[in-house]
Amino acid sequence: MIAGLINLFYPPLCHGCGKKTTLPEQNLCKGCLENIKKRLPPFCVRCGRQLPSQIQMQDTCSDCRTENPYYDRALSVFHYGDILRELVHTFKYGKMTSLANEFVELTVDFMKEHGMCKKLDLVLCIPMHPARLLRREINGSHILAKNTAKKLGVRYSGSLLKKIKSTPPQSKLKRHRRIDNIKGSFSIKKNRASAVQDKDILLVDDLFTTGSTANECSRILKQAGAASVKVITLARGDNLS
Ligand SMILES: [Zn+2]
Ligand SMILES: [Zn+2]
Repeated sequence: MIAGLINLFYPPLCHGCGKKTTLPEQNLCKGCLENIKKRLPPFCVRCGRQLPSQIQMQDTCSDCRTENPYYDRALSVFHYGDILRELVHTFKYGKMTSLANEFVELTVDFMKEHGMCKKLDLVLCIPMHPARLLRREINGSHILAKNTAKKLGVRYSGSLLKKIKSTPPQSKLKRHRRIDNIKGSFSIKKNRASAVQDKDILLVDDLFTTGSTANECSRILKQAGAASVKVITLARGDNLS
């Protein structure tokens, strides 16, 4: 009753275009949801980079052939541009955490379409350094990972990985600097290495640019005996890598 009255006087507005949405729990209207286009294959089978359309399925990009990443497979749902860039900004910096509902719904659908939901034991987020978390108050990766795990029905362990070194934001650095910047900055919580042993792990993050953060976390997990590491991110800045 009270919720009904609130909706009557303050109808829920779409975070994409500002128009009224039909249901109170909706953050995005139908039109905006349809405007966020999912990425289309072919993708590199390792890092998920967009490959030219004439390439047959099951190919690896030249970077993955030379660098051989630690993760087994990475995939991103959307291109990081236009409406999605704004929505991610609203989610992370505007602390509009309820947008995770739409993000996770779309992410899990995409994972199903691409056979990424099979064989998962554990979901993890990319941790933030405690000092940065204190400043930023929320870790977008944690919110997305926790909700993704719930939707998939897989165990979530938000504190298993730790950020032990505070590093400048990756977004401000060039590709080769990102790899040096991030190296050795994560670890597995003391006495918890057995929790990843022989496990098939899914890492969840908001953005994938060069993949150096996901790769460094994967390196730590593989060293601790993880059977496989998959990475799913909401968006990928192909043009930024
Ligand atoms: Zn809208
Ligand atoms: Zn690749």
